[in-house]
Amino acid sequence: MMKKVGKVIFNFSMIIALLIPITMDPLVVRAESKANTLGELKQELTKLKEQKAYQDNQKNLTQQEINQNIASIQQADKEKEQVRAEVTNAQNRIVESEEEISKVTEETKSLLKYFQLIEGENEYIEYITKASSTTELIMRISAVEQIADYNQKKLHELDDLIKENEELKVELAAKEKELEAKIEASSVAIGSLRNQLSALNELNEDINSQINNQQALIKYYEGVCTSDDQPLSECIKVASNSGWTKPLVQGRVTSPWGYRVDPITGAASSFHNAVDIGGNPEGTPIYAGTNGTVAAITRRSNCGGNMIYIHSEVQGKAYTIQYAHVLDVYVNVGDTVTINDVIATVGGGPKTWSYERCSTGAHLHYGVSTGYYLGGGPDGYSSWSKFVASSVQPVGFPALGIWWYSRW
Ligand SMILES: [Zn+2]
Repeated sequence: MMKKVGKVIFNFSMIIALLIPITMDPLVVRAESKANTLGELKQELTKLKEQKAYQDNQKNLTQQEINQNIASIQQADKEKEQVRAEVTNAQNRIVESEEEISKVTEETKSLLKYFQLIEGENEYIEYITKASSTTELIMRISAVEQIADYNQKKLHELDDLIKENEELKVELAAKEKELEAKIEASSVAIGSLRNQLSALNELNEDINSQINNQQALIKYYEGVCTSDDQPLSECIKVASNSGWTKPLVQGRVTSPWGYRVDPITGAASSFHNAVDIGGNPEGTPIYAGTNGTVAAITRRSNCGGNMIYIHSEVQGKAYTIQYAHVLDVYVNVGDTVTINDVIATVGGGPKTWSYERCSTGAHLHYGVSTGYYLGGGPDGYSSWSKFVASSVQPVGFPALGIWWYSRW
């Protein structure tokens, strides 16, 4: 019996062609179980939880690094403000000194004038000769000289002060440049750390999905297996089918099963383990193409997406049917589904493009493999590559591009 819960799993990008993974990013978590027994499923769950803990820790460390860089930018900004204030001060001192210099220069010029033009210069003569005694006369001459000396000294001092402040300005400019470089470096670091963090978040979504799936699998198999050691293939109870129906009321095959030019990578010959069914907008109901049991629900954010795997027996043979790229998921692991049940809706179009990196339009990737994926069995397998290797051409579909309007 299917629980018709309107569960909506977040939709993740899904490769148009779920190809045999030739190059695998070691960080990318594969959305599959290799367990053959309930006990192995439980061991896998423990490992997944360890992986999650590791990823959480990585996330925290990355966030800490981001925070440190932000703090360092703030600190550098503060220092820059201080440097600029210091530059302003130095500039003010230069201006003041220059003003002072012009004053003193004027004063000195006047005095020099007195010295140079003693003869015929009334004021100076007056100043000197108005002395009432020789002593006073000497004092007055000396006073003028002292003032001139004093001014000269002062001019030197002011000149030095200007030079000092000019040097300080150069130093401060260098310091400001240094701070700006520091800010720039921190900003660059933050950029790459944020990318790292979003990749980690994506991985985290993946692992959370896997943990949920694994827990659902364990719960399901605990209900149908008699012990942890019993092969899962023996526990599986699967509804039989006399034939195949199409999962969509209407549509057309837009990309066939088999070798093809990869629409994403452009690779000349890549294996497409499904038919891609187009012609339906996102949100279109997807029916179970066969009566069966929901064996797994996973998602891959790295060119992955929401995927549903259903175990079915058709004309006495074991199959696992894959529905990939779906938008909404309406089933749970362990649910028994019939061909009259809507299990999901079509995705892969604009509604998923905020995170979709591998799909160019709404479609369903419908794959059929012999054996029970995630379940071992006589024709069984448990790895993703074996799932792909066991892929068979889905039957009951018209030729490429030909529309159909009936599921039968
Ligand atoms: Zn496909």
